[in-house]
Amino acid sequence: MKLVLATNNVNKIREMKSILGNFFEEIVTLKEIGFNDDVEETGDTFFENALIKAKAISKFSNLPALADDSGLVVEALNGEPGVYSARYAGDHNDENNIKKLLDKLKNVNNRKAKFVTSIVLYYPNGEYIETTGEVYGNIIDEKRGSNGFGYDPVFFSTELNKTFAEASGEEKNSVSHRGRALKMLIQKLSDKK
Ligand code: IMP
Repeated sequence: MKLVLATNNVNKIREMKSILGNFFEEIVTLKEIGFNDDVEETGDTFFENALIKAKAISKFSNLPALADDSGLVVEALNGEPGVYSARYAGDHNDENNIKKLLDKLKNVNNRKAKFVTSIVLYYPNGEYIETTGEVYGNIIDEKRGSNGFGYDPVFFSTELNKTFAEASGEEKNSVSHRGRALKMLIQKLSDKK
């Protein structure tokens, strides 16, 4: 059976292809099915956004489609930036997003935060599999490290004892929200087999 990945992000495509290759005969991308539109992410939760994307692509292609949605959730900010993580400061600019986050946390003692990923694998018959992955940490006052992307330089992982930007790709993948959501998806697919 074929699977469509509902993303144009080359890193995600590479990672997901290598992990999901055992479960699908062929894995294709949006480009390969001729889907060039933007799916509007109008959901209030990561799950809703992943479902909106996976469903739209599955309906378009009549194939199973996998979509993910992720973000940073900060306890003292009532869950902000949440589903607005990519465009927290207005446009998609990591520097500005981090600056806004640190400004909001000035003089705030509770620095607890988590990254969350929701994955939805949607089938043409309307059934779907959903998984969630989380990783916990604290938001530090200054950026540390130069790997990764997004909020990685200010996300101090309690498990790795360093920021995600100080961690190698392998270290980050071993504990990351996306890695965990994918692992759980594989578990659910294996159970179905
Ligand atoms: P997406 O849904 O995976 O595209 O993630 C949305 C936004 O959440 C990104 O643009 C980042 O700002 C933030 N984000 C998600 N995952 C990570 C991560 O692993 N590290 C840092 N920021 C992340």
